[in-house]
Amino acid sequence: MHTKILATIGPACSEKKMIQQLTDRGVRIFRLNFSHGSAEDFIDIINRIREVEKESNVSLTILQDLSGPKIRAGDLKESPMSINVGDEIHMGPSDAAAEYLNYIPFDHPRLLSDLNTGDIVRVSDGGLKFEVTGRKNDMISLVAADAGIISSRKGISFPGIRTSISALTDKDRKDLAEGLDLGIDAVALSFVQGPEDIAEAKDIIEEKGKWIPVVAKLEREIALKRLDEIIDICDVVMVARGDLGLECPLPSLPTLQKRIISACNEAAKPVIVATQMLLSMVHNPMPTRAETTDVANAVLDGADCLMLSEETAIGNYPVESVSYMREISSEAEKLFFEKKISPVEPARTGGESFLAYAACLMADKVKAKALVAHTDSGFTARLISSCRPRQNIYGLSPNCNMQKYMNFSWGVTSVDIPEEPHDHLQRTENFAESFSDFASGDRIVITAGHPKTGQERSLTNLLKIYRK
Ligand code: PGA
Ligand code: MN
Repeated sequence: MHTKILATIGPACSEKKMIQQLTDRGVRIFRLNFSHGSAEDFIDIINRIREVEKESNVSLTILQDLSGPKIRAGDLKESPMSINVGDEIHMGPSDAAAEYLNYIPFDHPRLLSDLNTGDIVRVSDGGLKFEVTGRKNDMISLVAADAGIISSRKGISFPGIRTSISALTDKDRKDLAEGLDLGIDAVALSFVQGPEDIAEAKDIIEEKGKWIPVVAKLEREIALKRLDEIIDICDVVMVARGDLGLECPLPSLPTLQKRIISACNEAAKPVIVATQMLLSMVHNPMPTRAETTDVANAVLDGADCLMLSEETAIGNYPVESVSYMREISSEAEKLFFEKKISPVEPARTGGESFLAYAACLMADKVKAKALVAHTDSGFTARLISSCRPRQNIYGLSPNCNMQKYMNFSWGVTSVDIPEEPHDHLQRTENFAESFSDFASGDRIVITAGHPKTGQERSLTNLLKIYRK
């Protein structure tokens, strides 16, 4: 099993027995959705995940997903409001509604001031499209391009427009600080607009004296314009198809997914495909044909991780959903290896990339049992993973944060190794020698950093065929 499975925790799977069953079937990352709670609501769940982790002896990553600035309409005077094509509506402060028939209270004055005539606004979670036609004081007028219904508190989006709202709300900052105290292993930022949002989260984490990977959720059209900068600064990317599908035309979603995944693969950054992957399994023990195909295609596109949301959080069949996801992705991996003659040549240049590629080629040629990478920053393990070798990759690190980070990378099994001995090559050989899945006579391809005499440590610079 190379593709990683990420499950969202919710009432349907928050008991220890369920966490155990999902872990047994291959979940390695559990997502805590902070749109539905705060740190104290998750304390017991975090403890249960840690217990399962200890008892099963597998590394589990707890991902805190911050809610971000989801923008909503206020309470309509009469809800729902019926709209026809060409109707004019107004949006503005809650207390200025009196003179307009179709009025949407909207208490983000800064956001309204970012809009210009001709801009598009989507209301009702993407369902209705409007065009901005003018502005009067702190109010804007819009004309409807679609007919439909608007009700109170529905989501409003501004495709392609950079708003002055930060991706980290006050609640997010508080949640992140509390989450770090509770020992979350990774954090996801919702509605990221640019690299600054990631930098802000990284600063908060650093101020706490910690390091955890930051996941950039791509769900705003504006973020796609700065995709390379975002990929560069974040540690993991999520194709957040739910909200992205509200901002971008739905027909473009499949190709956007493929473009984002390719860019992440080239940069050797893990990428998650999320939302509605097996949605019908909330109610049925079996997915639809289209869903099985969607999961397989995400693997073939190059996803590192596949995410389950409602399926595990509130569905009737969380265990079955994970089992299906694992089986479909395993079948897709078989096809991937059938079609692929040799490891993927990295798009990145540089010595480290070539060493990782050479390790994969070598593993292929000598029919190695596995690749074992010692990694301080996780970089070598990510580079090897991006070459998509057939063999399992064991990422060895004494650093717990790195172990949790490697859980996002395709094909990488995180291994906790002791700080002793000091020599990294020795550490990898000790692991190969003692690991019971490797039999006597197996060839293992090892990468490690071997410092020059007098040097304390070094980047990965060594490639070795180890015969057990
Ligand atoms: P959400 O993010 O489930 O937190 O909204 C994922 C998405 O929008 O696809
Ligand atoms: Mn979202």
